Amino acid sequence: MATPSLYRRYRPRRFSELRGQEHVVKALRDAVASGREGQAYLFSGPRGTGKTTSARILAKVLNCARPVDGEPCCECESCLAVERGTSYDVHELDAASNNKVEHMRDLIEKASLGTPGRHKVYILDEVHMLTPAAEAALLKTLEEPPPHVVFVLATTDPQKVRDTIRSRTQHLRFHLLPPDELAAHARWVAQDAGLDVDEAAIAAAVAQGGGSARDTLSALELIASTGGVTDDALSFDELVEALIERDPGRALTAVAHAVNAGHEPRPLAEAFVRHLRNGFLSLMAPELVQLPSAQVDALAAQAQRLGPAALVRAIERLGEILVELRHAPDPRVLVEVALVQLTSPATGGATTDDVAPLAARLAALEQTVASLQAAGATPRPVDPATGRAALGGRARRAAGNDTASTPRPAAPAAPAATPPAAAEPPAPSAPAPPAPPPASRDLRAEWDQVRPALRGIAKPLFAATEVERVSSDTIVLVAPNAAHAAKCQEFLADVRTTWRTVTGHDATVEVIARETPAAPSPAADPEPIEDIDLDELVDAPPGSMPSAIERLAEAFPGSQLIERRD
Ligand SMILES: [Zn+2]
Repeated sequence: MATPSLYRRYRPRRFSELRGQEHVVKALRDAVASGREGQAYLFSGPRGTGKTTSARILAKVLNCARPVDGEPCCECESCLAVERGTSYDVHELDAASNNKVEHMRDLIEKASLGTPGRHKVYILDEVHMLTPAAEAALLKTLEEPPPHVVFVLATTDPQKVRDTIRSRTQHLRFHLLPPDELAAHARWVAQDAGLDVDEAAIAAAVAQGGGSARDTLSALELIASTGGVTDDALSFDELVEALIERDPGRALTAVAHAVNAGHEPRPLAEAFVRHLRNGFLSLMAPELVQLPSAQVDALAAQAQRLGPAALVRAIERLGEILVELRHAPDPRVLVEVALVQLTSPATGGATTDDVAPLAARLAALEQTVASLQAAGATPRPVDPATGRAALGGRARRAAGNDTASTPRPAAPAAPAATPPAAAEPPAPSAPAPPAPPPASRDLRAEWDQVRPALRGIAKPLFAATEVERVSSDTIVLVAPNAAHAAKCQEFLADVRTTWRTVTGHDATVEVIARETPAAPSPAADPEPIEDIDLDELVDAPPGSMPSAIERLAEAFPGSQLIERRD
């Protein structure tokens, strides 16, 4: 390699240069300055957050000829040797590939041969990957460590490190960096390195870096070397729109654009999954999204339109092919097939039946026609049975069954279950946006503002509801099932408060359960996929059901919440 990568060039040389890990820095500097460094540390945290770098700085300062305040001088022979990687005092072992007991025995043997007056630092990366026998050997050494030996065990997964080992270490946790801090860092590095990049490039690098300084600088370098930001964001918007619109052609066009622009299918798919996952998180837990807040809001709006269930489905399906992509002779085809499955109406990405997609497409067309008819029909605010004005929400409770075009005696109190409706032409049973109450507010429009503003669990809960009907001051939402509706009831006070905050006036919000999953006509349920599993995602009592995050993790074997780039 001709020039060292940005990350290597700008790797922190002193504790004070380490970004975003102040608590770790303080603990280590204080310990070193007072000569009370520990003999075994466990550094845990996502990759690229400075674990190994910190271990090297620790090794430097412990052997530095002229340390100052717990910092290495970075000028003496010892410091320079550590930086060059030629020091005999620092030993790094990647436990992922050297995980056998003989590797550990070898290391322990070396550790016991101390050089007087020197500190030997053993850095064991990915220590959770050790075999049980190797762990046992390490444990024995940690119980009686040779003098002047410091073990730094690094791991991205501290839960997998045996308790007996953990308990013999000082555990320091490294954190992902907040986007704004990473952006500042990237900006500084770009300027110092004389890179010709703009703010869009910085933002893209931060987004791709996912909270890791190393990954951010790698992304920045790539962007700079390819002459600026690629149209990643654009193509994802296009892809998401294609998912929302269920438009396979649009999806394939977006892929073609991206591939023509030089994106490899696999990184493209990975980045798209990341994008979707961020979208999912922006609905469920916005604080976890590693993006500037303005971008999170835009992402949430997009994710809202696609819907949590469709998001999860897309993440799962694309997650499946990510594994296959490693060995696929033509990865692009796999990506395209997955996208076609995901965009084909109502196939759910699961069928290979030739007829099913056609049938689904037909159903979607019928649905469109139905909703157009419903919109054009402008149901009158009169009771068709009496010809008199229908008052309030309750009077129109039967609107779902009753339409202006098929007058019937006024309205039973609850919609009758009509299983055959699904097979009927959709037009007569279109639920229809009821006519807005004369000269009054548009509660639907207000709800569109209120819903994204909901916080916490209320947000996903209500995201899964649909507007059943509105009247002058009441909006009735329908939940996928009774349990979901009951759960929503608990948050009605929150919703009312948010409503007042957002719109400046009050509204009555009611939540009812869908009678049966099949009861409403196709047109009443434009996104049937929506009621699949959302309440499972949010309703489960802690512990008994996997959390949304756990489900995501499950969808990607071996994954963690951290962005991972090769
Ligand atoms: Zn030094």
